[in-house]
Amino acid sequence: MPHSTRLPRTGLLRTVAALALAAGTLLAAGPAPAQDGPTGSQTGGAAVAIAAETVSRDGTTRLTLTLSRAIEARAFVMERPDRAVIDLPEVNFQLDQETGKMSGRKRDGAIASFRYGLFAPGRSRIVVDLTGPAVVEAIETTTTREGAVLVSIPFRKVDRDTFRKAAVAGDPSPAAKAAPKAPPKAASMNEAADTRPLIVIDAGHGGTDPGAIAATGVFEKDIVFGFAQSFAERLEQSGRYRLLMTRDRDVFVPLAERVRIAREAKADLFVSIHADSISAAPQVKGATIYTGSEKATDSESARLAERENRADAAAGTESGEGPADVADILQELTLRETRGFSAGFAGRLMGQLSPVMEMSTKPHREAGFKVLRSPDVPSVLIELGYLSSKSDLEKLQSEEWRARVTGSMAKAVDLFFSGRSTLSRPALVAPKRSAAIAPVSP
Ligand code: ZN
Repeated sequence: MPHSTRLPRTGLLRTVAALALAAGTLLAAGPAPAQDGPTGSQTGGAAVAIAAETVSRDGTTRLTLTLSRAIEARAFVMERPDRAVIDLPEVNFQLDQETGKMSGRKRDGAIASFRYGLFAPGRSRIVVDLTGPAVVEAIETTTTREGAVLVSIPFRKVDRDTFRKAAVAGDPSPAAKAAPKAPPKAASMNEAADTRPLIVIDAGHGGTDPGAIAATGVFEKDIVFGFAQSFAERLEQSGRYRLLMTRDRDVFVPLAERVRIAREAKADLFVSIHADSISAAPQVKGATIYTGSEKATDSESARLAERENRADAAAGTESGEGPADVADILQELTLRETRGFSAGFAGRLMGQLSPVMEMSTKPHREAGFKVLRSPDVPSVLIELGYLSSKSDLEKLQSEEWRARVTGSMAKAVDLFFSGRSTLSRPALVAPKRSAAIAPVSP
């Protein structure tokens, strides 16, 4: 889990990337460490992309990147929905605001829209939504007289059959497709002795997956990351908790990986931070707290969960197998108990948040969010508000509002853990009537 970051007890958001941990290095939070891609450039530091343009001519649409140096790009196409994925070594995208807004707006030939970002440490990715079946022809690299490197990716429209064959042929192995996982790390003596509750804060989206996009061009992934950081900082300052973030920068993290991070760390609480958007209803506003359930409270919640669950596809990965199906009766029982804790925390949150912020008309709902499926970690997801609401968007970008809300959320966490001085985490228990099933360790 190269994305997860354990916050040191002091030093607030100075973070230790798991990747660096493996290498025995300590990193301060901030810009991504330079990672050379497979091209092994000697210049050190990621290549910088300063422009990305699309031009259609003679049935071919070219996406051209202007870069500070040459990089190796690799493309493959995927079906359902039709898209192309361009894998790159880590690229520092410094594209202007207009390029950032391209997502879902500009249509040009074979390309409907594209998005880009960090896919995993050391790896960037561009995901191109296609207007229909198209294949990527040979990628060309040229150098301008000024020394800039142009990487041109040509897309040619083809029939469905040809596209399907290309999708099968170009499909990298599941291992290559998934974001790499770091080997499990052993807890240090210090960590093992630390019995303070562990809270995992999950900033939604990231990297190639921007989440919802406001009319002003602001991305959900950025708003929720800022909020998640302040919330973690707030909790950390109390000294009562250990904190772990599922991502410590603008990087894509698969949904199942977020769940895995919490479970593997034996988290006592998982809080996922999101913000919604309904462009068709700009008057809709307010926060909603969600807990997991196979049955959604209403169709609106079901649709939202479905949208959030599409995050993996948005970043160009298959959803893969999600967290293990809760078929096992032990897990089923544990999940039921855990969901009681989740609902308990949601109640605390409601109590603390209602007086300080605008809540939606039905502020606690249930739906089948993938990130809320840990059988043994109480989990809630909070949609802070709507990027499509002018007043919500203003609040979401206000420091003062954020300080007030994270303060109240921290109070809800205190209430949740107070009186739970013993083991706060539900343990897997053997069912009373089913002797045939041996208890398993969590
Ligand atoms: Zn979201």
